[in-house]
Amino acid sequence: LGGSISRALQKMSNATIIDEKVLGECLNEITRALMQADVKFEMIRDMMANIKRIVNLEDLAAGHNKRRIIQQAVFNELCKMMDPGKASFTPKKGKTCVVMFVGLQGSGKTTTCTKYAYYHQKKGFKPALVCADTFRAGAFDQLKQNATKAKIPFYGSYMESDPVKIAAEGVERFKKENNDLIIVDTSGRHMQEAALFEEMRQVSEATKPDLVIFVMDGSIGQMAFAQAQAFKQSVPVGAVIVTKMDGHAKGGGALSAVAATKSPVIFIGTGEHMDEFEIFDVKPFVSRLLGMGDWSGFMDKIQEVVPTDQQPELLQKLSEGSFTLRLMYEQFQNILKMGPIGQVFSMLPGFSAEVMPKGHEKESQAKIKRYMTMMDSMTNAELDSTNPKIFNDSRALRIARGSGRSVKEVVEMLEEYKRLAKVWSKMKGLKIPKKGEMSAL
Ligand code: GDP
Ligand code: MG
Repeated sequence: LGGSISRALQKMSNATIIDEKVLGECLNEITRALMQADVKFEMIRDMMANIKRIVNLEDLAAGHNKRRIIQQAVFNELCKMMDPGKASFTPKKGKTCVVMFVGLQGSGKTTTCTKYAYYHQKKGFKPALVCADTFRAGAFDQLKQNATKAKIPFYGSYMESDPVKIAAEGVERFKKENNDLIIVDTSGRHMQEAALFEEMRQVSEATKPDLVIFVMDGSIGQMAFAQAQAFKQSVPVGAVIVTKMDGHAKGGGALSAVAATKSPVIFIGTGEHMDEFEIFDVKPFVSRLLGMGDWSGFMDKIQEVVPTDQQPELLQKLSEGSFTLRLMYEQFQNILKMGPIGQVFSMLPGFSAEVMPKGHEKESQAKIKRYMTMMDSMTNAELDSTNPKIFNDSRALRIARGSGRSVKEVVEMLEEYKRLAKVWSKMKGLKIPKKGEMSAL
C-alpha cells in the first residue's frame, strides 16, 4: 500500500512539474505575441504575474487541454484590461451635445470626425462639423470636402487664425441651428509642443465638450501610454478611437490608451472611407492581439453549438467568402429562430454590434423582419447576385413597391448587406480545420 501511495504522489508531483513547464512555455509564447502586437511591456509583465496566480496548477493537471485553459485566462485578463469600468458618454438624439476630437498629427482625427458624424447621421442625428484646425494649411479644405460628401453642415475659416475663436463661433452657430451633435476637429499635436497643448485646453474650455475623444493610430506601439497620458492631462478625455486597424497593426497600444485615459475604446477605423468605421468589439480585438485571428472565438462557437453534420456546409460557405442576399436572408432566419446557427451568427463582429445591439433585441428583430419582407420582393437573380451594383434606382423602386416599404428603407437594407458582405469576405480562404483541430491553440 505504502508503495502505491508514494507512487501516486510521485506521479502527481511529476504532473505538476509538467504543468508548470507547460504554463511557462505557454506564457512565453503569449508574451511574444503581445510584444509583437505592441502591447506595453510593463503591462504584459504584470498580467503574466497575475495569470500565474489565477491559473490553478491542479485544475491545469486535470484539464485535458492545458494550453486552452491558459489561453482562456489570458484572454479574460486582456478583456478586463480593455474595460475601464465605466461606459463613455453617448450622444442622445435631439439633445445638443458637443464632441471634441484630439490626438497626434496624422492619427486620423479629421477622417474620423467625418466617419463619426456620418455614422450618427445614419442613426437619425443632426451632426455638424467645426474645423478648429487653423494650424495646418489645407485642414479646412479637407474637412469641407469630407463634410460635403456626407452632406453634413460644417463651419470653418480661411482667414481666422485663432482656433479658440472659431471653435466657439462654430459651436454657437450650430447650437442655434439645432444640430444635436456638434463635432469639433482640432489641429494635430506633436509631443513636446506645450503651446499647442495649451491651445487645445483653451478650445476645450471655450466649447465645453460633453465628450473628448482621443484618436490614436493603431500602429503607435510602445509610445501610446505616454501620448494618451499627455492628452488626458490637458483635456478631459472620455473615450478612445483606434484608427488604421485595416493595416498590419494589431493595436496593442489601445490597452495603454485605456489605462492612461481610464476611458473605453468606442470605435475603430478600418479604412480611409467614410463607412470604414465599426463599433469597438472587445473579443475580436483581443483575439487579434493574441494572434488568434478575429475568427478563432467564432470557430470555437461553431464547434460548440452547430450540430456536427451541419458544420462542413457552413464552413464551406464561409471559406468561399461570397455573401449573397439569399445567404443574408437565411442567416436572418437563423437569428430570428435563435437556433444554434443563429447564435453563431450573432457572434460575428459585424452582426452582434450592429444588427443585434444588446438591449435593443426587439427593435433589431423588427428591423430584420422588415429587411426580410423587402428581400421577399426580390428576384432569384437578385438574391443570388454578389454584386450590389445591380440594384439601380428602378430595381430599388420595384422592391419598395412590392414590399410596401420606402425606397430609403430598401437602400438602407442594401447598405447593411454591403457591410455584412464585407465582414463575411474576411473569411475568404479560411482554413477549414480538420476534426479535432478546432480547439487546439
Ligand atoms: P489628422 O491629422 O489627425 O486629422 O489625420 P487625418 O484624418 O488627416 O488622417 C491622416 C491619414 O490617415 C489620412 O491619409 C487618412 O486617410 C488616413 N486614415 C485615417 N483613418 C484611417 C483608417 O482607419 N485606415 C486607413 N487605412 N487610413 C486612415
Ligand atoms: Mg486633421
